[in-house]
Amino acid sequence: MKILANDGIDPLGKQLLENAGFTVDTNHIPQNELALKLPDYDAITVRSATKVRKDLIDACPNLKLIGRGGVGMDNIDVEYARSKGIAVVNTPAASSLSVAELVFAHLLSGVRFLYDAQRKMPVEGDTNFGGLKKAYAKGVELRGKTLGVIGFGRIGRETAKVGLGLGMDVIVSDLFEAPKTLPLTLSGGITVDVPITQVELQELFQRADFISLHVPFTEKPIIGEAEFGLLKPGVGIVNASRGGVIDESALIAALDSGKVAFAGLDVFDNEPTPRKDLLTHPKVSLTPHIGAATGEAQERIGEELANLIIQHLKK
Ligand code: NAD
Repeated sequence: MKILANDGIDPLGKQLLENAGFTVDTNHIPQNELALKLPDYDAITVRSATKVRKDLIDACPNLKLIGRGGVGMDNIDVEYARSKGIAVVNTPAASSLSVAELVFAHLLSGVRFLYDAQRKMPVEGDTNFGGLKKAYAKGVELRGKTLGVIGFGRIGRETAKVGLGLGMDVIVSDLFEAPKTLPLTLSGGITVDVPITQVELQELFQRADFISLHVPFTEKPIIGEAEFGLLKPGVGIVNASRGGVIDESALIAALDSGKVAFAGLDVFDNEPTPRKDLLTHPKVSLTPHIGAATGEAQERIGEELANLIIQHLKK
């Protein structure tokens, strides 16, 4: 059987599939040629770039499986594919830790002004800079501060664990009842069950020194103009979930007024091209949806995807 890994696959995943007898093609086929060429394959794996819509599915009557390396299946017509008997699988847990760690890259960068610290340094040979000014770098520590985690699923929990590890007080908000404790594994393999405080969203907005969002895409922003009004002055916000969850115009206004001290965004409206006032804002650190872009996460994604494909197609 032939598999087209159209957005690439980690070498470990490829190896596992080949060991199981599959032929894996990692040559990318452009979207507009897929309807012509995909019928030669039994399965396709994608990340977020390749779209597998109804018309492509209709053009491939022999397609048996669509695999998504990662979580979001917005680029696949999942229900339609399943109605045609095509298996659709993804790897929801494989990147959770990597995304959570990126949240703290943004948080730590925000509280210690890493972008400003670099940008405002005099360059070698500059003798006229009037002394090194570090006033902008009056940072704050994270320990003892309250981290509000909105959405307490896979990534929210990993984020909470990192926060707890740094000595933060963690409060969480979710549509559903959260577990009462979170197992925190320390180096040496000791696991401690740490109590978790679940609060209503309004309370989280009022108490959190830092907020991190980990919810699916929402039609209406979770933090819009009215919600910004409820936040603690000087709050730091990180969004590594989905663009649209924060109202970007309201965020820029809140950053300009000083209500929000900084924002770290791995996702934004109109990806992959953010609006200019967001990209160039001095209080924003922006990354181009790289939450899962670590060697470890990609290896786990490849391995998990390969095992799912083997499970489904080797029945
Ligand atoms: P998950 O399904 O495990 O958890 C989502 C949680 O949010 C659930 O507990 C759900 O009950 C809760 N929730 C949903 N709507 C809510 C609301 N309005 N208010 C409060 N809670 C709400 O999902 P996950 O794997 O933790 O992923 C979270 C988000 O991160 C998703 O949007 C996913 O697409 C995104 N993600 C981003 C990256 C990246 O590279 N930045 C990588 C993977 C996933």
